[in-house]
Amino acid sequence: MEESRSWTRRGFLRQTTSCAAHLGLMSAVAPAWVRGLWAAQERYPVVAREPWGRLERVAEGIWALVSTPLEGDRTTLCNGGIVAGRAGVLIVEAFGSDAGARWMAERARELTGRAPTHVVVTHYHGDHTAGLRGSAEAADVTIFATPVTRDLVRERGQTPPTQLLDSARPLDTRRPTEIDLGGRSVVIVPRRGHTASDVSLEISDPAVVFCGDLVWNEMFPNYVDASPSRLSQDVRLLRAQGADTYVPGHGPLADAVALDRYVALLDDVEAAARRALEAGHSAEEAGAAYAVPAALGAWTLFNPAYFSRAIDSWMRELAG
Ligand SMILES: [Zn+2]
Repeated sequence: MEESRSWTRRGFLRQTTSCAAHLGLMSAVAPAWVRGLWAAQERYPVVAREPWGRLERVAEGIWALVSTPLEGDRTTLCNGGIVAGRAGVLIVEAFGSDAGARWMAERARELTGRAPTHVVVTHYHGDHTAGLRGSAEAADVTIFATPVTRDLVRERGQTPPTQLLDSARPLDTRRPTEIDLGGRSVVIVPRRGHTASDVSLEISDPAVVFCGDLVWNEMFPNYVDASPSRLSQDVRLLRAQGADTYVPGHGPLADAVALDRYVALLDDVEAAARRALEAGHSAEEAGAAYAVPAALGAWTLFNPAYFSRAIDSWMRELAG
């Protein structure tokens, strides 16, 4: 918490591995009505509320954290959740700070009567892994990450998650891993597209999918490490499940309609990149001219570079 709050602007800009690094810059200019709109979009009863986020009770034994960092508090920064069975309690994500991860572990204890036993990080970005020290404080907790995620954290020199991920249980990157929490199974599915290694966590009855940063809702996605066609493909696979609730990596909880809108946005970005290539425009020019179609609703974006980054990512892929 202190760590992220005390980031200098220069340090902040250097933190390019955080997919939500732009949030702090945006919060300075986010108009109150946008922040209010987002904060008001609760889909389920709120069981805990803090300046940085709210914990919604999605179903018996399933809670989702919706982070609300636009006010400038980045204690958790990304979304995540708690899934409980008779034999174990799983936390999705390690969040943007030790304090954020610790807060989630405390909520898990309070809501389920037991300490977390599993922590799964969906991908390597700092806003999902920086709080691992806070996650690892529970005595009997096992951390799960793919070997690719572990290596990417190491390559980018993200400490202290580096040491903690060295002892993490590796998740298979070719086939799903099922974790039986006792009367509640979580299937961890290896995916790609937002980064070189993403995972989704999938629960049935009710169907709830924790999407990591493959899905963003009402907040324009960051393509910094994206493989755009793979992203589109994996998002369609998530949508095809027809889940009741999709927990995006950032933004309010989503349903199938919201996923359709997100798929349409990804397709629109692709179309803009194809037009730019044909017209011989640069990604910067195309990004400057890009606007999210009004039919897709309001997507928070205050840094126009995010449009060019997405278009550039597509143009590089299309140009081979
Ligand atoms: Zn990310």
